[in-house]
Amino acid sequence: MGLLDQVRDAGVVGAGGAGFPTHVKLNGKADYILMNGAECEPLLRVDQQLMAIHPDEVILGFKAAGEQVQAEKAIIGIKGKHDDVIEILRQRIEALGVGNYVSVGILPDMYPAGDEDVLVYELTGRIVPEGGIPLNAGCVVINSETSYNVYRAMQDKAVTHKYVTITGDVPERKTVYVPVGTPIRDLLKFAGLDDEAGYRVIGGGPMMGPVLDDLDGYITKRDKGLIALKKDHPLIVKKTKTLDQARRINRSACEQCRMCTDLCPRFLLGHNMQPHKMMRTLSYHPNDPELQTMAQICSGCNLCSMFSCPANLFPKLTNDIFKNNIREAGLKYQSTTEEFKPRENRPYRKVPSKRLVARLGLKPFDRPAPYTDEVPEINEVHVALSQSIGKPAEPVVNVGDKVTEGQMIGRIPEGALGAPIHASITGTVSEIANGYIVIRK
Ligand code: SF4
Ligand code: SF4
Repeated sequence: MGLLDQVRDAGVVGAGGAGFPTHVKLNGKADYILMNGAECEPLLRVDQQLMAIHPDEVILGFKAAGEQVQAEKAIIGIKGKHDDVIEILRQRIEALGVGNYVSVGILPDMYPAGDEDVLVYELTGRIVPEGGIPLNAGCVVINSETSYNVYRAMQDKAVTHKYVTITGDVPERKTVYVPVGTPIRDLLKFAGLDDEAGYRVIGGGPMMGPVLDDLDGYITKRDKGLIALKKDHPLIVKKTKTLDQARRINRSACEQCRMCTDLCPRFLLGHNMQPHKMMRTLSYHPNDPELQTMAQICSGCNLCSMFSCPANLFPKLTNDIFKNNIREAGLKYQSTTEEFKPRENRPYRKVPSKRLVARLGLKPFDRPAPYTDEVPEINEVHVALSQSIGKPAEPVVNVGDKVTEGQMIGRIPEGALGAPIHASITGTVSEIANGYIVIRK
């Protein structure tokens, strides 16, 4: 069986949050394969520890993925501040004899170093065209945990577990490797948060992750972190504003200072993303999607709303409102440029991670979340049928079936984009409902 089939059958998807099926991503040809080990979202501690704990698997999975897309170079992107991990990676690259192909590329400690367009530029000097994907610049980008899962797929091991950092205002910050389908509540308890009343939890990083409506959810292949904060923490207050609230505030208070644009990572790469113009459009042309298409080239990094704007407004949410309008109108942003050059002042406008952490009010929680082998006893998992971009998996098991860890329990619908799902524990299928297959030990 070839690598693409192994990766597909193992259900590998982008582990950095995007959840794009990896067998589709690797079914192309590129000059470079790049590993996204930036982990630029504050507080998350998965990639940096995974690369230190399983360097050989990560490197070899990454190399195989690179060879699959016929890349000439394979570069692991990691921030320079992780010098101990960099040392491990360099040693293991040499020991594995892959130094003529795989190298380590050092990223600045800035946000968003892990944005794919930023990563491509920092590691190769190439610029992804606005509205494009890294492949348009001859690059394929995969996450470090995805590389690890590619390696496991080569050993015919399916994706059954996920690395997750549990952090924020919890007594014991930690990073764990837990079965897909583990209840979120169990993980918060495991980090010492016994009474969740008074807390809200961000699913993912503090910049791009949503505040969870409730804690009744389950870990999927795309999850990377849970950040618990008190309900009145300024970050939670800001992130829980609705689109309607944001619309009202934005329309009344934008000073058109254009700080949001001057610091926008996509604008700085030479793209035409200018959030201050979108704010103006919100005031003067809120119902004209033709004038709003620029919003489509916003990456959603949230820097404008969470850091740049001195008036504490929500330019990113304006873009979200416009993205909906554009979709409903069936429009698409038309680029007028073919060659992109980074803005001259880009080197002076990178936002250091430490300043971002301080601005978000997360300094007290910017602490290690050490990996631990100990995991809570999980007796029941809810494995979501939809864990990747594309169609949900179709169950291939029935209630009452006995399943073993790693067994395929949901397959990709015929001809559709998606990824199969697997039993993450050995047990009996107790329920198939509401988008989940429930397995009880
Ligand atoms: S930074 Fe804030 S106030 Fe200034 S233009 Fe952007 S949204 Fe308006
Ligand atoms: S969220 Fe804001 S800063 Fe980020 S790309 Fe979009 S407009 Fe630019």
